[in-house]
Amino acid sequence: MLRAFRDAAVALPDAMVAVDENHRIAWFNTAAGSLLGLQHPDNLGELVADAIAIPGLRQWMDEGGIDPLTDVTAPADAEVHLNLRLIPYSEGHSLLLARDVSQILRVEKMRRDFVANVSHELRTPLTVVHGYLDLIEPEQIPEFESIIRELRSQSRRMTQIVEDLLTLSRLDAEEALPKSRVAIRPLVTTLHRDAEGLSRGRHTISSSIKGGHDLRGSSRDLYSAFSNLVSNAVRYTPVGGRIHIVWISDSNGGKLSVTDTGHGISAQHLPRLTERFYRVSTSRSRETGGTGLGLSIVKHVLQLHDAHLEIESELGVGSTFSCVFKPSQLLPSEFAAEEVLE
Ligand code: ADP
Repeated sequence: MLRAFRDAAVALPDAMVAVDENHRIAWFNTAAGSLLGLQHPDNLGELVADAIAIPGLRQWMDEGGIDPLTDVTAPADAEVHLNLRLIPYSEGHSLLLARDVSQILRVEKMRRDFVANVSHELRTPLTVVHGYLDLIEPEQIPEFESIIRELRSQSRRMTQIVEDLLTLSRLDAEEALPKSRVAIRPLVTTLHRDAEGLSRGRHTISSSIKGGHDLRGSSRDLYSAFSNLVSNAVRYTPVGGRIHIVWISDSNGGKLSVTDTGHGISAQHLPRLTERFYRVSTSRSRETGGTGLGLSIVKHVLQLHDAHLEIESELGVGSTFSCVFKPSQLLPSEFAAEEVLE
C-alpha cells in the first residue's frame, strides 16, 4: 500500500519534497529533479534552502511558508515559473510542493496583451468619430437632433470604456508604483469639489479630515480610485441625498471613505462588485454614464498600494466604500490633524 502511494507520488507532474523538522530533505519525487534541480541521492539529507537555488526560499521556510511563494523562477530552467506551497503534516514534517505555472502565466499575459492592444487600436477611430460628431450642431438638423445627441453620448461612453480598459491594462502591468507623497488635504478638497460639480446641487456634500497623515503612492492613481468612488456615490444617490467624504488616520493605518444615502446594494452582489463589467443594474449604470470598470480600477490601484477596499451597504439606506491603508503607506502630514472642510 505504502509502495503504491510512493509510486503515485513519483508519477506526479508537480514537484514534491518531503521535509523533516530540521528543514532537511527526506525524500523527493522525479518532478523535483526537473523542476527544482534536485539530484538523487546527493541532495537527500541536505537543508532545503541549500539544495534548491531559489532566492527567498530560506526566509519563506523559516517563516513557516504560510502563504504560497508565487511566480518564482525554476532553478534548472529560467523559462519555467513555479508556485511553491509548504504543507505541514505530523510532528514538524512538511511537504514542499512546486507546480509549473508557466503556461497559465503565458495565457494570462496573452489575455492582458490582447485587451491592451484592442483598446489601443480602438482609440484612434473613436477619436475621429467623436471629433466629427462634435463638428455637427444638432440644432441645425432638427430631424436628426435626437439621433446626433444619442450618437454623441454613445461615442463618449465608448471612449470612456476604452480609457478605463487602458487604465486597467497599465495597472495590470505595473509592479511597483512611484512612492511619492500624496497630500491628503488638497486631495480631499478636490474630491469634494468634484462631487459638487457632478451633483450640480442635487445632493448635500460634506467632507472631513481626522488624523495627521498623508499617503505614500501614486497621486494620479489614488485620485483616480477615490474619484471613482465619489462619482459612484453621486450617480447612485437620488436627488436630495447626502454624500460624505472622510479621511481618518492614526498609527494603525488610514482610511478614505465615501458614504452615501443612495440606493444601496444587497449583500449577494457585494463580493462581485469589483469584477470587470459587473453591475447590479445594467440600465441604471448605463443611464448614469457608467462603464462597469470603476470598482475594478479602485481594486487594482489599492492592491498596488498594499491596501484594500471595504464595502458596507444596505438596500434603500446607502453605502460606504472605504479604502483601507496600512501604517507603512502613511507619512506624517504637514497640515492640521483635524479639519472639517464643509
Ligand atoms: P459602473 O460604471 O457601472 O458604476 P463600477 O465598477 O463603478 O461600475 O460599479 C459596479 C456596480 O456597483 C455599479 O454598476 C453599481 O451597480 C454598484 N455600485 C457602485 N457604487 C455604488 C454606490 N455608491 N451605490 C450603489 N451601488 C453602487
